[in-house]
Amino acid sequence: MDPDCLFCKIVSGDIPSTGVYRDDRVMAFEDINPVAPQHVLVIPVQHVTFLSTADESQEALIGHMALTADRIAAERHIQDSGFRLTINQGRDSGQEVDHLHMHVTGGRKLGPIA
Ligand code: AMP
Ligand code: ZN
Repeated sequence: MDPDCLFCKIVSGDIPSTGVYRDDRVMAFEDINPVAPQHVLVIPVQHVTFLSTADESQEALIGHMALTADRIAAERHIQDSGFRLTINQGRDSGQEVDHLHMHVTGGRKLGPIA
């Protein structure tokens, strides 16, 4: 846990969130500023700063994040209509929170990827 990290504080419960799913490796919660009718964030429980600082020992964890996102999409009935998984990485992507996260967005026709 990084004591200065917003999402670590969400994991610990120091900052409240609307939880969607949790197990020993990942946690999912509603994005506080949704950009689509469905907007969930999937994060590792352990602090991983960036996709680009993850190492091979975290491959399964990142795969588990993606499959968790897909299951959430299924539960929310957007698996068939379609949804998007987004990882923002670094300055040009607009990444704001330096704790790896996947955005799951859907529930309407999404625009082109910028
Ligand atoms: P990114 O730009 O990829 O780093 O995305 C960070 C996301 O975290 C944004 O979509 C924010 O709306 C979201 N966010 C920031 N603070 C919170 C919070 N306290 N609870 C839930 N989502 C948050
Ligand atoms: Zn963190």
